[in-house]
Amino acid sequence: MRQSQLLLPTLKENPADADVVSHRLMLRAGLIRQVAAGVYTWLPLGLRVLRRVEAIIREEMNASGAQEVLMPVVQPAELWVETGRWAKMGPELLRFRDRNERDFCLGPTHEEIITDLFRREVQSYRQLPCNFYQIQTKFRDEIRPRFGVMRAREFTMKDGYSFDLDQASFDRTYQTMYDCYCRILNRMRLDFRAVEADSGNIGGANSHEFHVLAESGEDVIAYDTEGSYAANLERAVGAPPPSRPQPAAAMATVDTPGCTTIAAVGELLSLPATRCVKTMIVRGEKSLVAVVLRGDHELNAIKVEKLPGVRKPLAFADESEITAAVGCKPGSIGPVDLQIPFYVDACAYAVADFCCGANEEGRHHVNVNWDRDVSVAADRVVDARNVVAGEPGPDGSGRLAFLRGIEVGHIFQLGRVYSEPMHADVLDQDGKSLVPIMGCYGMGVTRLVAAIIEQNHDEVGIKWPAPVAPFDVHIVALNYGKSEAVRKAADELYRACIERNMDVLLDDTDDRPGVKFADADLIGIPHRITVGDRALANGNVEYKPRSGGDAEAVPLTDILGRISGDDVQATD
Ligand code: ATP
Ligand code: MG
Repeated sequence: MRQSQLLLPTLKENPADADVVSHRLMLRAGLIRQVAAGVYTWLPLGLRVLRRVEAIIREEMNASGAQEVLMPVVQPAELWVETGRWAKMGPELLRFRDRNERDFCLGPTHEEIITDLFRREVQSYRQLPCNFYQIQTKFRDEIRPRFGVMRAREFTMKDGYSFDLDQASFDRTYQTMYDCYCRILNRMRLDFRAVEADSGNIGGANSHEFHVLAESGEDVIAYDTEGSYAANLERAVGAPPPSRPQPAAAMATVDTPGCTTIAAVGELLSLPATRCVKTMIVRGEKSLVAVVLRGDHELNAIKVEKLPGVRKPLAFADESEITAAVGCKPGSIGPVDLQIPFYVDACAYAVADFCCGANEEGRHHVNVNWDRDVSVAADRVVDARNVVAGEPGPDGSGRLAFLRGIEVGHIFQLGRVYSEPMHADVLDQDGKSLVPIMGCYGMGVTRLVAAIIEQNHDEVGIKWPAPVAPFDVHIVALNYGKSEAVRKAADELYRACIERNMDVLLDDTDDRPGVKFADADLIGIPHRITVGDRALANGNVEYKPRSGGDAEAVPLTDILGRISGDDVQATD
């Protein structure tokens, strides 16, 4: 491709509204342009990267035995009513009516559509296991689209769905997909971790997320520094707390005027936060619900939202609701004689002689002990907190540490959550009907492009890993319009690249050298060959890999032999 014919609107300045480096660089390198909040056009250079990412995913999915299909973006409400999700989904699901007043939505995911296809087209156990996938546009009306294509409203996802006859067969399929995801991310040369994850509103039991490690990641991963345990903070657990010591003192009530935080109460009474408990109030299905945590711990919204009786989505009660239900303001609440149902986090339950609010303004209880002063039913002791860095991991070997990650993939064990209500059964060898076990496998294709940039850039631009680069080779011809020698050498080199099946971009523009080099650094093609009069006089060109290292003079006749190693691969 000749650069003079390429729509490549690079920007010198950082766009003001781009908060993360990948978003800035995608705009500056002319890969994407925003059309509306969270909705983007992919420009030619960006699309080339996207297509290469898709090609890797497609190759590995096909090699894993999955079959590609293409389902519609527009989905009829009836199918969502069947699974109960028409009512359950919030405003993230964009709904609309056609001219016949029929309800539709834009697909945020495709479980309903694939399960409907399966029940119509697959009847016999002999056709199982089977696994379908597509690379398709999704729409989710995200409350806060941000970071460019990282959290968009319209984005491309690879989504796959498997059907197996029994658990053993499903376990094999799940492992095959897990391995496939690792291969895909390795081929893109990404530094990633697979972690245990929450299943969100897709449903089902266990799941794994694949995170590209990056400071800008929205997710926190907790991992065991010694063992293999790694989980999203949303569901990470620590080792069980040590058993509770015996009570040592009688409960008493003390004045704590103006002290409404753990820090203030702790300072006044010379107690560490680990000897205090805090009581947070959320909205429940019938009444408010309290969650008691150790003073130094944070509430985990995902875990609390799942507790019976807690309203979903999780919402904290406001001050007037709390005062009406409990009789005092937040800051003085505690579990002793509390008038609303409460849960106790297991770590708070392991503290003896603790301090807590007395449900009276300016007063706290000290030396409170569970069971003696406050009774708690066994099913009310739960895990409701975030783990903290440095605490022992659940498998007992090392300590937990944190990393930030960008979730690029998520694989779920769906069980029969969709196949059962949608009657997607098949006949077994005895003619009996059997409901298959489903799995679903998502990968954020457009998000991956941003994640790759997060891990591969420097202060001047993108450094594409060769397997996903928009072009393999960038020939930068200086003074192309005026120098006959440069034009001839550059054109010959360009043709030679094409003959060797390399994807090549020839900068044949009239820009000044400084502009050309700045743009070349910005768009980050792995191999740069500069053709200029001065080097040509000695039969040389200048070679510079974008991955690093100085520019060096290489004889024109040797240059292509030099760079046609493993790193150069043509896709079209
Ligand atoms: P997140 O927690 O980031 O919202 P999710 O759990 O809602 O993700 P899934 O339903 O598992 O996402 O979707 C599969 C994959 O699609 C995700 O792993 C992610 O890579 C991608 N994805 C999800 N939402 C978006 C979005 N708004 N923009 C771009 N990619 C997305
Ligand atoms: Mg989401």
